[in-house]
Amino acid sequence: MFNSLSDRLTATFKNLRGKGRLSEADVDATVREIRRALLDADVAVPVVREFTAKVRERALGAEVNEALNPAQQIVKIVNEELVAILGGETRRLNLAKNPPTVIMLAGLQGAGKTTLAGKLSKWLKGQGHSPLLVAADLQRPNAVKQLQVNGERAGVPVFAPHPGVSSEFESASGDPVAVALAGVAEAKAKLYDVVIVDTAGRLGIDAELMAQAANIRAAINPDEVLFVIDAMIGQDAVTTAKAFDDGVNFTGVVLAKLDGDARGGAALSVASVTGKPVMFASTGESLDDFELFHPDRMASRILD
Ligand code: GDP
Repeated sequence: MFNSLSDRLTATFKNLRGKGRLSEADVDATVREIRRALLDADVAVPVVREFTAKVRERALGAEVNEALNPAQQIVKIVNEELVAILGGETRRLNLAKNPPTVIMLAGLQGAGKTTLAGKLSKWLKGQGHSPLLVAADLQRPNAVKQLQVNGERAGVPVFAPHPGVSSEFESASGDPVAVALAGVAEAKAKLYDVVIVDTAGRLGIDAELMAQAANIRAAINPDEVLFVIDAMIGQDAVTTAKAFDDGVNFTGVVLAKLDGDARGGAALSVASVTGKPVMFASTGESLDDFELFHPDRMASRILD
């Protein structure tokens, strides 16, 4: 991810080395190169426009830092603007004052939600929490099973609506809102301090699915709603993210499949167009391929 963008930006900055002072033409040429590199990396057009306008304005402005040469100053500006579009400061999970903390996951089918549920629960467990996974994705026949497999790997219990797994709540079977509510009730009763609710996704955005997700959100009143997006989806990222933001008003973004060799545009666009921070990165198929997302580290990686 980002290899090509990273190479292009590095090459652009190399051209500035040794220059004593940057003329407006130098800045414009550099900004043009940055624009092309971002567009080729599939970053959404409005995001590119805003980004390059800010870099240009700052590079031409009175932002003089005696310790840096002109090339270093532009790198610094680009770095800071990259951090800003990725959400700024590292954003940590908002934990409820009165447990359980309720975390709802939303996103398209195949984005990586169920995998993320396992990863997040394992990570939380490692931090001393006692999480409960709730299988409220009743759309995909295999989703409940898959969550159970992930829960088992993570050593985290799964609340599921199927007979034999949690017969007390069999009446909730088939209704994702009821399953989600019953899962939160189970966490309260059994003193789990974090509940992670996996919800259904479809291949495309769909009104019925969005209404279902909105109903679950309204019923369980989550502390966090994490929108999981496949970082490989390119330009579609923006439409998808906006639709989910309108539908469920998510609180944070999880970039899944950041290990892929995609160009990285989704990663750079989603936080910017929704104004919601990227909180976690999912970087592989194993449950340990998961990390808290640090915008500053990602920006440094891109500019390395
Ligand atoms: P869901 O439909 O949103 O629940 O998506 P899943 O969690 O089932 O993931 C869909 C596919 O993507 C599965 O084959 C996962 O193994 C794979 N997957 C999920 N997260 C990652 C990731 O971070 N990297 C890679 N390479 N594959 C992933």
